[in-house]
Amino acid sequence: MRELHTARLEQKLLLSAAAQCYHFEFTATTGLPLAYEPGQFLSFVADDPQGKSYTRAYSLASAPRGPRFEVCANRVPGGFLSNLLCDLAPGDTLHWHGPHGLFTLRQPLPGPAAASLMIAAGTGIAPLRSFLQSLFPALERPHPIHLIYESPSPEELFYDSDFRHLSATQPLFHYHPVPGSDQDRAQTLATLTSLASAPAPDQQATPQAAGQAAPSRNEAPSAAPAPTQFSRYAYICGLSQLVKDARAHLLDLGWHRRQILSERYD
Ligand SMILES: Cc1cc2nc3c(=O)[nH]c(=O)nc-3n(C[C@H](O)[C@H](O)[C@H](O)COP(=O)(O)OP(=O)(O)OC[C@H]3O[C@@H](n4cnc5c(N)ncnc54)[C@H](O)[C@@H]3O)c2cc1C
Repeated sequence: MRELHTARLEQKLLLSAAAQCYHFEFTATTGLPLAYEPGQFLSFVADDPQGKSYTRAYSLASAPRGPRFEVCANRVPGGFLSNLLCDLAPGDTLHWHGPHGLFTLRQPLPGPAAASLMIAAGTGIAPLRSFLQSLFPALERPHPIHLIYESPSPEELFYDSDFRHLSATQPLFHYHPVPGSDQDRAQTLATLTSLASAPAPDQQATPQAAGQAAPSRNEAPSAAPAPTQFSRYAYICGLSQLVKDARAHLLDLGWHRRQILSERYD
């Protein structure tokens, strides 16, 4: 049985009425700092009126900051925990265990010649927001960071003004919002092509860089041992279809599967 902790909701903000998505600021009631790596999640635990227990994962949307932490969540029609969360009021408490998860920034961060790519849809933005808060303003290894964020409409780009502000004040951060793309992923993938096609230092000797066709993702992997470390990584978070599409696209562009980190919400 995992040890359960308690958090108190301090503040709740509606991020989008259309998406029924909220931003939550909690404090761990122990008052002790919550130690986690950006990109990890907590498991919230609650019982329904019949006593059935539910456990659901929610990515931490903020960088570590003492006992306070932030998450964002949307209502899922018919879902128990997302609606319980979205119905909470400041002062209410919730049980959790964690942190959990391996969707974290790969170290060392890229050098100036290679970019980090982050791709999200909907509340999949949460762990990437945590990454960005931990990376800026004092970017330890300066390199370009691109965030591709797709949503059904401009109103459903959560934290849009924060990312616009970051891109206006941090020359190495590039924000690529793609509203209106949930039904047709073409624009997201075209943006990904434009950012991911340039060879990175560790890929310049690959057959693709030498002008040969990239192996199809259905072909057997090359017999050559994979490097244990790459000069750049892509981080994808959202529902399964986005993760599947973006991953397949990067593989087609010649990326190695170990360069692609992902978190699926469903
Ligand atoms: C590692 C991880 C991190 C997660 N982080 C977040 C987060 O930061 N914010 C967040 O809102 N959700 C997040 N989720 C999803 C969350 O755990 C729940 O699955 C979701 O809130 C639905 O729970 P529920 O009890 O209301 O409904 P359930 O009855 O559990 O779910 C109903 C169905 O909704 C699907 N579903 C799950 N998430 C969504 C979604 N966002 N939109 C539409 N359908 C969905 C599931 O496939 C499921 O079949 C995360 C999931 C994982 C695995």
